Amino acid sequence: MAAITIDGKALAEKVRAEVARDVSQLGGVGLATVLVGDDPASHIYIDLKHKAAQAAGMEARDLKLPGDIAEEELLSTIEELNEDDSVDGLLVQLPLPDHLDENRIIEAIAPQKDIDGIHPFNAGRLYLGRPTLVPGTPLGVMRMLDEYGIPLEGARAVVVGRSAIVGKPLAHLLLQRNATVTICHSRTQDLQRHTLDADVLVAAVGRTHLIGADMVKAGATVIDVGMNRGEGKKVYGDVDPSAAELAAYMTPVPGGVGPMTIAMVMQNTVTAARSRRLVSPAN
Ligand code: NDP
Repeated sequence: MAAITIDGKALAEKVRAEVARDVSQLGGVGLATVLVGDDPASHIYIDLKHKAAQAAGMEARDLKLPGDIAEEELLSTIEELNEDDSVDGLLVQLPLPDHLDENRIIEAIAPQKDIDGIHPFNAGRLYLGRPTLVPGTPLGVMRMLDEYGIPLEGARAVVVGRSAIVGKPLAHLLLQRNATVTICHSRTQDLQRHTLDADVLVAAVGRTHLIGADMVKAGATVIDVGMNRGEGKKVYGDVDPSAAELAAYMTPVPGGVGPMTIAMVMQNTVTAARSRRLVSPAN
């Protein structure tokens, strides 16, 4: 029997509607994005975020800075946005040009405005089991699992990929929900042995169809984070679509995790706005 499709597009619409409602209840929310240089993919991502922010009724500021900007100048721009009370959420589009120290830039963002959840303070809180702002992709995956009622308590979860923005934070979120979590990566031996054990299998690798149907347990929930460019504009996941014959639930690519990411970054902006208003007596 074919898997039930976890519809990320429809769920992202729902999240966006919730965000718009929250923005209106809060009486406005401010987002600022910083894009350095002219990487075409980064421009597309920033435009999508601005469209989503505007659709939700946020005030969105779009700073586009030259690719040869000096590090100190970028740091002082971030500092100004940190201080600016009209900015609730601040994100710096990655990757940055090579001459800039990405870690130094990330650490300059005020943690309470870090809607990408990548500041070490926010990563540390997640590690300690007290998450506040968490990266959008893993947050979106958790929302998908919850929306479809996938049991996590005591489940065997296998996350393939250990990046700081997807695999690691997702593994922590699953652990916090009492799943038994295994993290696999490029040095994992006999990947199939691990994936076949998974009740919840997440692929966040960046290798087209790395996970074949023979690596999926019957009845598993399969979340495919991969977005791998093929010929033309076609995008392929990390999981072979034939795995849907075995899985009970599976995300499609495209239309699965992809649309959730930006929706969850918008939700993070609302989260940041709420907690800032709680601590700021002026509001
Ligand atoms: P990274 O390249 O940062 O990380 C990839 C991870 O996969 C690494 O941990 C790497 O291991 C591991 N890996 C590589 N090859 C293998 C292998 N053969 N077997 C097992 N593990 C392997 O990627 P990201 O986490 O940034 O992204 C992963 C995928 O998700 C990409 O396709 C990306 O486009 C997509 N993505 C999609 C998003 C969305 O919104 N849908 C958002 C973010 C990413 P090691 O650590 O040992 O190198």
